[in-house]
Amino acid sequence: MKLQGHKPPVPWHMFILYLVMSTLVIFGGYLYYQYRKKGLLSENQKELSAIADLKIRQITQWRFERLGNARFLEDDRQAIGLLTDFLEKNGSKETRNDIFLLFKSLTDNFDYKQVMLLDTTGLVIFSYPDTANFVGSYPGILIDRVLNDSKIIMTDLHYTRQDSTSHSDLLIPVIANDHDNPYVRGIIDLVIDPSKVLYPLIQTWPSPSKSAETLIIRKDGNEVTFLNSLRYKKTTILELTLPLNESKLPAAMAVRGISGTIDGIDYRGVPVVATMKKIPGTSWYMVTKIDRDEIFSTLNRQMRMVLVILILFLIALGMFLGFLSWNQRARYYREKYEDELERLALVKHFDYILKYANDIIFLVDKDLRIIEANDHALETYQYSRVEFIGMKLGDIRAEQTLAELSEQISYVEKHESATFETFHKKKDGTVFPVEISSRLVNIEGVKYYQTIGRDITERKLAEDSLKTSEERFRKIFEESPFCMLISTKNFEIVRANDAFCKMTGYDESELRMITFKKFTHHDHLPGDDLGLLKLVAGEIPVYQTEKRYIRKDGSIVWGATTVSIIRNNEGEVLYFLVMVEDITKRKAAELAFENSYSLLKATLESTADGILVVDNEGKIVEYNRKFSEMWNVPANILDSGMDSEALAFVADQLRDSDSFVRNVERLYSDPEAVTYDLLEFNDGRYYERYSQPQKINGVTVGRVWSFRDITLSKNAEAEIIKSKEKAEESDRLKTAFLHNISHEIRTPMNAIIGFSNLLSEPGLDASEHNQYIEILNQSSNQLLSIINDIVDIANIESGQVRTNYSTININEALKNLGEQYSYQNRELKLPIYFHPGLPDKDSVLSTDRTKLIQILSNLINNALKFTVTGQIDFGYTVKENFLEFFVKDTGIGISEEHLQKIFHRFYQVDGAGSRQYGGTGLGLSICKAYVELMGGNIRVESEKDKGSVFLFTIPFTNI
Ligand code: ADP
Repeated sequence: MKLQGHKPPVPWHMFILYLVMSTLVIFGGYLYYQYRKKGLLSENQKELSAIADLKIRQITQWRFERLGNARFLEDDRQAIGLLTDFLEKNGSKETRNDIFLLFKSLTDNFDYKQVMLLDTTGLVIFSYPDTANFVGSYPGILIDRVLNDSKIIMTDLHYTRQDSTSHSDLLIPVIANDHDNPYVRGIIDLVIDPSKVLYPLIQTWPSPSKSAETLIIRKDGNEVTFLNSLRYKKTTILELTLPLNESKLPAAMAVRGISGTIDGIDYRGVPVVATMKKIPGTSWYMVTKIDRDEIFSTLNRQMRMVLVILILFLIALGMFLGFLSWNQRARYYREKYEDELERLALVKHFDYILKYANDIIFLVDKDLRIIEANDHALETYQYSRVEFIGMKLGDIRAEQTLAELSEQISYVEKHESATFETFHKKKDGTVFPVEISSRLVNIEGVKYYQTIGRDITERKLAEDSLKTSEERFRKIFEESPFCMLISTKNFEIVRANDAFCKMTGYDESELRMITFKKFTHHDHLPGDDLGLLKLVAGEIPVYQTEKRYIRKDGSIVWGATTVSIIRNNEGEVLYFLVMVEDITKRKAAELAFENSYSLLKATLESTADGILVVDNEGKIVEYNRKFSEMWNVPANILDSGMDSEALAFVADQLRDSDSFVRNVERLYSDPEAVTYDLLEFNDGRYYERYSQPQKINGVTVGRVWSFRDITLSKNAEAEIIKSKEKAEESDRLKTAFLHNISHEIRTPMNAIIGFSNLLSEPGLDASEHNQYIEILNQSSNQLLSIINDIVDIANIESGQVRTNYSTININEALKNLGEQYSYQNRELKLPIYFHPGLPDKDSVLSTDRTKLIQILSNLINNALKFTVTGQIDFGYTVKENFLEFFVKDTGIGISEEHLQKIFHRFYQVDGAGSRQYGGTGLGLSICKAYVELMGGNIRVESEKDKGSVFLFTIPFTNI
C-alpha cells in the first residue's frame, strides 16, 4: 500500500477563513476599543474642564470674599476708630480689649489664622493670637505700597519658615479721617490660613476618583511652583518647583500659557489627562488632571475580558476548523485506504481473471512478437509458456488469413482498437475460428497490442445449426398443410403460409396489410385478448381456441387455433406463431350432433315416462327428470352413476322387491332381452316397466329402461269393477226390493181387497164386521207405511229432506213412544223398557222431533220384528255434547258379514228368496240418512242369535 506522495490537500480555505475571521474579530475589537477610548477621553476631558471651571469660580469667589472682608473692615468706622485710637494713643486697656475681641472674632469666624495690627513702620503692635510679633518678609515688602496707595493688598501665598506653613496676607490700610485729610495710620494684616478653606476647596473632587487632582501653580522665574499640597508627593507646601520647560508637564504648560485639555506627564512622571486654566485676578494657574490609567481602567478591564473571550472564541474556532480539517484529512486517508484496498482487490481480481479467463489473452509487441499470455492461451494453442512467449503473431494464424494480418494491424494502429473474426491454428495444426478483440496499449511509452481472443468453434457450429433449423422451420412453415402465420406482438402479420392464405382467401401481401383481428369473428375478440394476455404473461404455454374466421369473401370458416410465443433472450415477445386447423366440417358435424342430442334430450325430458339409460357395466349414462321424480332417487345417487345404488334405493319402495331385483339381474345377464312387467309399490302405485337394449352398429352397449306411472288407470279400473259390482248389487237389491215391495204391497192389498169383498157379503155379524174393518185398517196402515218409506227414501235421495227443530222434552216423548209400543204389542208379551239418560227436568232439548221419533220407531219396529222372546230396551245416555240413543233387543241378531250392509238401501239379511220377515230394506237407510242429517251417526252391535243393539247420536245442548 502506497500512501506516500498522496498528501491530502492543505485545507487552505479553512486556514484563510480562520485568518480572516481572526483578523476581523481582532480589528473589530481594536476599533471598538479605540472608539470607547475616545469616548471616555472626551467624557473625562469635559469633566476635567467643568471641574476646573467650577474650582476657578470657587477660588475667585473665595478671593472676593476675602477682599470683601478686608474692605468691610477698612470701611468699619468703629473698628477703624478703635484701631486708630490704639495706634495714636497706644490705647487704653479697654481699647486693647476691644481690639482683642475684634481680632478674635475675625480669626474665629473666617479663615484667618492671625490678625495683626501694624504701625506705619511695619511693626506689630497688636496681634491675635499673640504668637508672633513681626510681619514676614513677604508682606513686609508690600507695606509701603499699602501706605502709599491706601489700598488693600492681598499677597500671594508664601511660605513661612517660623511655623512651616504657607499663607497669604491681606493688608488693609487703617485710614484715619482727620478733617477730611485721610491718611494711613497703620495696617491690619489678616493672615489667611489656606489650609482652612482654600486648600480643601482645591483638593475636594466632585466625583469619586483615585487619581484626580487639582493643582494651583504659579510661575516663579523659570520654574513653576505648586501652591497646594500634592496628592502623591509628600512635600512641604510651596516647596515643589519644577522647571518651566518641562514640555509634557501640564503645570509647566499651563504657566507657559497653554490652556485647554491635553495629554501630559505629571510631576510623578505618570501619563495624565489635564485641563489647564488661568485663575483670573491672580498669578495662579489651575491644572485639573486625572491619570489616563484611571480613565481607561474600567474599559481596559472590560477589554481584557473581551480579549479573553475573543481569544477563547478564536481558540474554539481554530479547534473547530482544525477538527474539520482533521476530519477531512482522516476521511481523505480512509477513502484513500479503501481505494487502495479496492485497487489491490481489483488487481488481484484482474490477475485472477487473466490467469483463469476463458478467453485467450496475450500481449504482442510492435514487432508482433508475443510477450505475455494467459494460461488459457497456452492451453488453446497447445504450447508451453517457454515456446509460446516470443512466437510471432503470424505463427498462430491460419495460412489463409495471413494476408489480412497487416491490414488488421494497421486498422488497430489507426483506430486504437478493432474486433474481427479470423482463423488461428494450434500447435498440432488444427485451425479454429476465433474472434479477436485487439487494442493498442501504451505501457511506459512503448506500444503493445493487447489481444483477447475467443474460440468461436461452438458458436459457429451453433450458428450453422441455427441456420439449418431456420431452414427447416421455413420449409415446415411454407409447406405445412396446417395454416400457419407469424405476427408481431402488435398483431401485424409478418408471414403467412399458403394453407393460411387458402383458408382466409387473402394472399400473403394482402395479409401483411391487415392485422390478425381483421379476419377474426368479433365474437372471439374478447376471448383472444384475454388468452393472449395470459400467454404473454407466461401463465399458459400456448393459447388454444376454436374460433370463426371471416374469409375475404365474407364466408365463415372454423379454425382450431394454437398460438405460441417466440421470445428473445431477454424474454421479450418478438412474434406470435399461429397455427390454424380448418375444422369447419367437424364443427358442422358437431352442430348436427348437438342438434340431435338436444332433440333427444328435449324428448327425454318432455315424455311422461321416467327413462334411465345404463351401460353394459350398469353405470347410469342418462336419465330424465321424470325418472328421478318417479323414483325419488336422490340426485347424488343418480349423479354417482352407480346403477346398483339406485337399484337398492328403488327396490325398497316395491311390494315384491326380491322379484324386482331378480328380474333386473336376469336382464343384465341377458343383454338382448326386451321386457315388460308391472311394478307394484308399497304405497299403492303401479308402474309399467319396459326395457330394451341400446345398440350402436348392432352391438349392445347398454339398456334403456322406461317407467310409466299407471296408478291412476289401475285405480280407475278397480273403481270401474267396484262400480260394476255395486251396480250389480244394486240391481240385485232392486230386484229383491221389487220382489219384496210387490209382496209387501200385495199382502195388505190382498187383505184390503179380500176383506172389502167379505164386508159386502151378507150375513156378517158385527164382530166379524169389526174384525174385517180392523184388518182393512191395519192393512191400509201397513200399505201407508210402505209408501211412506218409499216417499221418505225418495225425498232423501233427491235431497229434499230438511230438519225442523223444536224444543221437546225427550223423556216425555220417549216415554209416550214406549207406552204406545207396549200397548200395541201387548199381545206379544214382549216388554219394552225405556231408560232415560237425564232426569226429566233436564231432558229438554232442541231437535227434529218427528225425525227422532221416526228413527226410534223404525228401530223399535225392527227390534219387535226380529225378536221372539226376551225384551226390548231403549233409551239414551249423555256422551259429552251428544245424546246417544239405543234400541236393544234379544232377537235373532246379525252376523258379522251383514253388519255394515244393513244400512244400505234395500238390504235385508234374509234375501228375497228366503223371506221370513216382512219389510222393504229401507228403514235403516232412512234412519242413517236422518241421523246424519241431524249431525250424528249410527252403528250397530250385534251377535247372531243373541240380539242386537242399534246406537245413534244426535248433538245435545242443554236448554
Ligand atoms: P226391513 O223392512 O227389511 O226391516 P230394514 O232396513 O229395517 O228393512 O232392515 C234391514 C234388515 O236388517 C232387515 O231385513 C233385517 O234382516 C235386519 N235387521 C234389522 N233390524 C234387525 C234386528 N233388530 N234384529 C235382527 N235383524 C235386523
